[in-house]
Amino acid sequence: CGIVGYVGAQEVSGRPLEVVMGGLARLEYRGYDSAGVALVTPGQDELAWAKKAGKLANLAAELDERPLPPATAAIGHTRWATHGAPNDVNAHPHLSQDRSLAVIHNGIVENFAQLRAELVADGVEMTSETDTEVVAHLVARRYHETKDLTEAVRTVAQRLHGTFTVLAVHADQPDTVVGARHDSPLVVGLGEGENYLGSDVAAFIAHTKEAMELGQDQVVTITPDSVEVVGFDGERAEPKRYTVDWDASA
Ligand code: GLU
Repeated sequence: CGIVGYVGAQEVSGRPLEVVMGGLARLEYRGYDSAGVALVTPGQDELAWAKKAGKLANLAAELDERPLPPATAAIGHTRWATHGAPNDVNAHPHLSQDRSLAVIHNGIVENFAQLRAELVADGVEMTSETDTEVVAHLVARRYHETKDLTEAVRTVAQRLHGTFTVLAVHADQPDTVVGARHDSPLVVGLGEGENYLGSDVAAFIAHTKEAMELGQDQVVTITPDSVEVVGFDGERAEPKRYTVDWDASA
């Protein structure tokens, strides 16, 4: 339901988690039934993550009890369940089997049953009831072949039917967050030595008013000092920059 992504300077710190939790709080007005975050810390083989059913306060309490390590990049999600009960397991992020990759997703993957059957036949063990989990396994498998997260998200996005905004992070890529959208919004926030992604500008308005809106069927790759956009067909795109008029959108 709500999506936030952040990547900052190469110093590991608590800022990625702070930005993402703050963004999720600003997106609370949209309604949700669970929330979660995943962090990338350089030099680690696995991501760090936490997810909880219920209010953001439940996730915050979990993070107090079991603090996550400092990081360089983070993604965060508030879920409005469409496939699978609103519980801790079905909350996003969803992770690959080796826990090196995490995805969050807004919308519905309509052909998830077929994709799920294909993965199960190939030996993948599914852990949730969501339509989203297939995206994590598909992107992880593609990434394993190419080591290119943008290309992995792009080729998997071509296979998804339905509506989606998807963000992905990988443990090998501590300076990168990749997003894709089809019939669901995704906005880029431009900072100084840091960049943001959000399902709406509220996700990052506390930090920057400089933004870019992605077009239909586009994939964006953000690092601390770059934003690159390609279509699902691989063609380079130049999204338009604008300054958010917060008074009008508040
Ligand atoms: N369809 C996904 C799920 O049920 C995402 C729902 C959402 O947009 O929050 O987990």
